[in-house]
Amino acid sequence: MDCIFCKIVEGAIPATKLFEDDLAIAILDINPITLGHSLYIAKEHYSTLLDVPEGELGAIIKNLQKVVSALLKATGCQGFNIIQNNTRCAGQLVPHMHFHLVPRKPNDPIRFNWQIQPYQKEQSQKLAEAIMASLASGREEIKDILGK
Ligand code: AMP
Ligand code: ZN
Repeated sequence: MDCIFCKIVEGAIPATKLFEDDLAIAILDINPITLGHSLYIAKEHYSTLLDVPEGELGAIIKNLQKVVSALLKATGCQGFNIIQNNTRCAGQLVPHMHFHLVPRKPNDPIRFNWQIQPYQKEQSQKLAEAIMASLASGREEIKDILGK
C-alpha cells in the first residue's frame, strides 16, 4: 500500500519524530499552521477513526495527553486544538488515521471559518431522535456510513 504515514512509521521515509510507543508515533507536521503543529499517528494503517476496531482507540491515544503537554511546554503555548479529519469531504488528505495537535497562543492568527447558524424549529429534536435511534441499533458497518 502506498501510504506516506505507513512509510514514516516503518522508517522508510524521514520525519521529525517526537514520540513513539507500541501503537502510535508523534511527528512534527511538515507544513505547520502554528509552531509545534504535530501529528499523532496510529502505527497500524486505519483509514479513518471509524476503521479502528471497537475498544482499541483508548490504547492508541494512551499517550496523547503526554505529547500535548510536552508540546505546550516546549512552545510556551497556553492552549491547543486537536483536529481529526476523516475522508476527503472533511479535508483528510492522508487516509491513515491521525490527530493534528495544534498549539495555540492568545491572539494568534489562526481562525476556523465556522459558518454557524441556529437550528430551525423542531429540527434539533428530530435530529437528536434519529441519532439516538441509530445509537440504539448498534454500530453500523463503516462502508454503509462513510462515503469512501
Ligand atoms: P490531513 O489533511 O488531516 O490528512 O492532514 C495530513 C497532514 O499531514 C498535513 O497537515 C500535512 O502537512 C502532513 N504531512 C504530509 N506529509 C507529511 C510528511 N512527510 N511529514 C510530516 N507531515 C506530513
Ligand atoms: Zn498507512
